[in-house]
Amino acid sequence: MFDNLTDKLDKAFHILKGHGKITDVNVADTLKEVRRALLDADVNFKIAKDFTTRVKEKAIGENVLTTLQPGQLMVKIVKDELTELMGGEVSGVNLSGNPSIILMSGLQGSGKTTFSGKLANFLKTKKSKKPLLVACDIYRPAAINQLHVVGEQIGVEVYSEPENKNAVEIAQNAIKHAKANGFNVVIVDTAGRLAVDEEMMNEIANVHAAIQPQETLFVVDSMTGQDAVNTAKAFNDRLNFDGVVLTKLDGDTRGGAAISIKSVVNKPIKFIGTGEKMDAIDVFYPDRMADRILG
Ligand code: GDP
Repeated sequence: MFDNLTDKLDKAFHILKGHGKITDVNVADTLKEVRRALLDADVNFKIAKDFTTRVKEKAIGENVLTTLQPGQLMVKIVKDELTELMGGEVSGVNLSGNPSIILMSGLQGSGKTTFSGKLANFLKTKKSKKPLLVACDIYRPAAINQLHVVGEQIGVEVYSEPENKNAVEIAQNAIKHAKANGFNVVIVDTAGRLAVDEEMMNEIANVHAAIQPQETLFVVDSMTGQDAVNTAKAFNDRLNFDGVVLTKLDGDTRGGAAISIKSVVNKPIKFIGTGEKMDAIDVFYPDRMADRILG
C-alpha cells in the first residue's frame, strides 16, 4: 500500500538523518521533498502546501535544528500531521436506530455492492446484528442479482422488488419488512452511475429524505485519486453524508484520496476495503494509516 509515497518520504527524511549539523536549508529541502512526495501521490496542491507549512511551523516550534535526532523528530511531526489530516480520532458507525438504517452512495464501480455485503457481514459476525440488505438499483437488474449473490455468500437476507421502478418505495417497503421481521440494521445499496449526474443525485437525495438514515456512507475507489475527492465533494454537497468508505486499498493506489478526502469534505473515513472477499474490510484508524504511509 502506498509504496511509492513511503519510499519518497523515506528519501526526504534521509536529508536530515545524514548530517552532523542541521541547517535551515536542510529542513527546507526535506519539506520540499515531502511536498513533492505528496503531490506525486495525487494529493491536492493546496492540501500539500498547507501540510508542509504546518510541519515547518511545528519543526521550528520544537527546535528541530538543535535536537539530537532531527530526522526522527521530523518523522514524528509528519506522522502526527498526517494522522490529523486523515481524521484524528476513530469514528464508528451509528447504530442507534431501530432498525438502524445505513444508506450507501457512490459511483458505479466504486465497490458499493461489495462493501454493502462486507458491512452486513461485519455487523453480523462482529456486532451480533441481524442485517437486511436492500437492492435499490432500479436500472441494472445485474446489480440486484449481484447483491443476492453477496447475500447468499454471507447468509444475509436481501430485499428486492425487481419490477418496481421507484427507489423510494422499495427502500420504504424494505424498512417495513425489516420492522416486521426483526432485522435491526437495514443496509440500502443504491444505483450509481459512471459519473456524477443530476438524475442520480436527485434519486439518492429523494431516498435519503424519505428514509432518513442514521448513517449515510459515501463509497469511493481509492485508485481514482483527486477524482475521488471531487466526487466526494459533489455527493457531500447533496447528501451531507456521515462518513467515507475507501475501497481497493489493496491495489496499486498512490494514497492521494486517503490523505486528502477528510480535509475536503470534513467527514471521517470510517472503513476501508482491502480486497474482493467479504472479510476484506477494516475499520479506518488514521494513526495506523499514517504509520503505514511512513513505513
Ligand atoms: P458498485 O458498482 O459500486 O456496486 O461496485 P461493485 O461492488 O460491483 O465493485 C466493482 C468491482 O470492484 C468488483 O469487481 C469488485 O469485486 C471490486 N472491488 C470492490 N471492492 C474492492 C476492494 O476493496 N478491493 C478490490 N481489489 N476490489 C474491489
